[in-house]
Amino acid sequence: GKGAAMVTAVACRLVSQRKQIDEVLASFHLSEENLIEVKNKMKDELEYGLKKETHAIATVKMLPTYVCGTPDGTEKGKFLALDLGGTNFRVLLVKIRSGRRKSVRMYNKIFAIPLEIMQGTGEELFDHIVQCIADFLEYMGIKGARLPLGFTFSFPCRQASIDKGTLVEWTKGFKATECEGEDVVDMLREAIKRRNEFDLDIVAVVNDTVGTMMTCGYEDPNCEIGLIAGTGSNVCYMEEMKNIETVEGTEGKMCINTEWGGFGDNGCIDSIRTKYDKEVDEGSLNPGKQRYEKMTSGMYLGEIVRQILIDLTKHGLLFRGQISESLRTRGIFETKFLSQIESDRLALLQARRILQQLGLDSTCDDSIIVKEVCGAVSKRAAQLCGAGLAAIVEKKRENRNLEHLKITVGVDGTLYKLHPHFSRILQETVKELAPHCDVTFMLSEDGSGKGAALITAVAKRLHNAGE
Ligand code: BGC
Ligand code: MG
Repeated sequence: GKGAAMVTAVACRLVSQRKQIDEVLASFHLSEENLIEVKNKMKDELEYGLKKETHAIATVKMLPTYVCGTPDGTEKGKFLALDLGGTNFRVLLVKIRSGRRKSVRMYNKIFAIPLEIMQGTGEELFDHIVQCIADFLEYMGIKGARLPLGFTFSFPCRQASIDKGTLVEWTKGFKATECEGEDVVDMLREAIKRRNEFDLDIVAVVNDTVGTMMTCGYEDPNCEIGLIAGTGSNVCYMEEMKNIETVEGTEGKMCINTEWGGFGDNGCIDSIRTKYDKEVDEGSLNPGKQRYEKMTSGMYLGEIVRQILIDLTKHGLLFRGQISESLRTRGIFETKFLSQIESDRLALLQARRILQQLGLDSTCDDSIIVKEVCGAVSKRAAQLCGAGLAAIVEKKRENRNLEHLKITVGVDGTLYKLHPHFSRILQETVKELAPHCDVTFMLSEDGSGKGAALITAVAKRLHNAGE
């Protein structure tokens, strides 16, 4: 009768709705073939960045860092470190002891960088940084000491020495004017001079990946790769000098900051990008740039999820078809929410509570779908990151002509540390795509700050030896 017909109609609608949702989820699925292709393309792009003829136009910039070795345990002294460009801005005092009682002690303070400063003028940004340093020195009672400083600056910098770094372009949430093309060490020195309250000896400017590699290298000499899977995404690794055509010399090794976040900016992975990726890119501070980073890092995963949820809601598949104010708000889905929603221990009821916190009034079915969406997006991110890392370890294996490579990767970043599945999927993917490499992942505790101090210590030691 009529009742049965209605039941059938409802059932049909449900089946078709499920089909639409599954189609969206499937667009985030990567086959093994896809992943191998990503690995191979990444490998090609690494080569372009190293070669003289192609370096200038390479999307994976392969920036030389002038860091030529890992610490050897003889480093010592008191150092200041700055850490700018991750989730927090921090100022640190690092005390390194050498010899049998080798140790690193750290004191640090976190400071906020307000949005209007991240996106104001360069002078305002650096004045703010120096203001924070002043507060910290005051707080620690060390304003008079002219300490050597290592500056962890987590953006692409073109370096001609360890203490010079020209900002190529801002990434992530920064967009301060009059900085691109300028030396960030000079900008920091000038801001210190403007304030005219204390003096510092700026010894090194360091990418966070390099700091992370150095920190882990302090414990494990096999650590020759640094990975950040956090707000942004990037890798550095020790490369043979003879392969780095953009730097004089053929002896030994130098650490290369790959800036792999720019992978795909030439369209080479467009076949796996979805319309949601394109929307996230278009709504970002740097459209067209950092396409791989936008598929793999904490700053953007939540945005991808939000774009999908908007689309599903528009099609009446979520939230009773109502696009709420908060769903329209850029940035509501932070990495920590993704991590919470995807946590296996979490009951769906709690997931609903988290969604509620975000201003999203969900039914039980909604919360299941949201969890599935988060899972698809973060899984793809981990797989892509794993495919990229497989290219790096394979390159290192081929460099040394080895049948089998044993290597350690130092890792940091909120996505890697806090997400319930990201690190596991990343590791599994590397294993599948680089079966001849035995990769150990080493979590770095406070990698960027400590690493900057270690690099500063090494640079100081070499400098003093040269004097
Ligand atoms: C920056 C890299 C940095 C990475 C992780 C990217 O956006 O370009 O320099 O290492 O984020 O912080
Ligand atoms: Mg960091």
